Amino acid sequence: MALIVQKYGGTSVGTVDRIRNVAAKVKEQWSQGNRLVVVVSARSGVTNELVARAKALSNLPEEREMDVLLAVGEQETIALTVMALHAIGVPAVSRTGAQAGIITDDKHTRARIVRITGGDILERLDEGKVVVVAGFQGATDTGELTTLGRGGSDLTAIAVAASIKADMCQIYTDVDGVYTADPRIVLNARKMEEISYEEMLELASSGSKVMQSRSVEFAQKYNVPFEVRSSFNDKPGTLVKAIDKTLEDAAIAGVALDRSQTRVTVTDLPDRPDAIAAIFDDIGEAGLSVDMIIKNLGKDGKANLTFSITTDQFARAEKVIGATLKKLGSGTVRSAGEVAKLSIVGVGMISHPGVAGLLFKALASVGVNSELITTSEIKISVAIDPAKADEAVRAVHTSFGLDKKA
Ligand code: ASP
Ligand code: MG
Repeated sequence: MALIVQKYGGTSVGTVDRIRNVAAKVKEQWSQGNRLVVVVSARSGVTNELVARAKALSNLPEEREMDVLLAVGEQETIALTVMALHAIGVPAVSRTGAQAGIITDDKHTRARIVRITGGDILERLDEGKVVVVAGFQGATDTGELTTLGRGGSDLTAIAVAASIKADMCQIYTDVDGVYTADPRIVLNARKMEEISYEEMLELASSGSKVMQSRSVEFAQKYNVPFEVRSSFNDKPGTLVKAIDKTLEDAAIAGVALDRSQTRVTVTDLPDRPDAIAAIFDDIGEAGLSVDMIIKNLGKDGKANLTFSITTDQFARAEKVIGATLKKLGSGTVRSAGEVAKLSIVGVGMISHPGVAGLLFKALASVGVNSELITTSEIKISVAIDPAKADEAVRAVHTSFGLDKKA
C-alpha cells in the first residue's frame, strides 16, 4: 500500500473520453489499496483560450484578474474527473488549490508557494477517497486567487507530494518520458531511463516542454523523486532523481530548443554601473527573468545592452525598461526580433574537455552562427536563427553521439 501523487497534464484530460481513461488508470491503483492524490491541469488549449480572450479585451490585463480567470480551467477538470471516478464506483472528492491549502505569495500569475497546509487531504484519504486537486492555482493568506506560472500544475504535484511525504510522484503526460532531444525534431532521439535533477532542470529551463522548470527546482530542493510517463500507454517512463555521476558518463545528456525567445536591445544607456544595475533590478522586481546578456561599449560614454527574454514577457519588459530609462535620462529599448535558443546539457561536461569546440563545429557544419552565448557548469546555450533551428538540433545531436543506434 503506497501513498501516490499522480499528475495528469492538459492533453491527458483533453476530452471527456480521456478523462474517462484517467479515471480508469486511477481506479487501477486505488483498487490495489493505494491512497491517491490526483492533480490535474486544465484541458489542453483552455488556458491559452482564456489568455486570448483577456488579451482581446486589454493588452495588459490586470494580473489579479488574470488569475481569477485562469484558475477556471483547472476547476473544470477537477469536477469532471471526480464525476468520472464516481461513475466507475471510486469514491473521490475535488479540492481547489485554496482548499488544498496551497498558500502562495501575492505575485499574481507567477506566484511562489510559501507553504502547504494540505487542507483535509489526509483525512479524506483515510476515508478511502481519492482526492483530486486543481493544479496551477493557490491562494494568498488573505484568500486572493493566484496561479503558479504556465505549466504550474507540475509544481502543484511535486509540492503536494513533498508535503504529504508521498511514496511516489508520477507525472503523466503525452510523451513517453524525457528524450535526448525533441523526438518530433530528431527522429532517432532516445528516451532516457533516468536523469538527474540538475540535468532535468537545465533541460526544462532550456525549452524542453516536458516539465515546468520551477517544479523540477522544487523537486530537487525537497528531494522528491518523480517519474515522467505517458498516460496513453503502460511503458515505464523516465525517473528523475538525485544521481551521482561517474567519469564514464557521456559528455552531454540532451539537446533542448526554445523557440519562444525575443532579443531585446537597449541602446544609448549611460555607461555607469548604477544604470545597468537599475535596469536589471527593475526587471527582477517585476518578476521577469532575462537570459543571455551581452554589453557593448557605444560612444560618448554610452553602452548598448542585448539580452534575451521569453517572447510573452517582452511587452512587460519593454514597459518596465522604458520607465527605468526615463529615470536614467537616456536610452531606448526595442525588440531585435525572435531567436531560438539551442542548449546542450550534461553533468559529464565537467569532465569532458572540448565540448564547446564540438558544439560550434556542429553548428558550423550546417552554417549556423550565434551572437548570444551563455554557459553554466553543465550547460551551453546559443541564440540562433529560428529558421535553422531544427537542422542545428539534428546536427548537434548526431555530433555528440546521442542518436539511437540503428
Ligand atoms: N493550465 C495551466 C497552463 O496551461 C497549467 C498547466 O497546464 O500546468 O499553463
Ligand atoms: Mg504541462
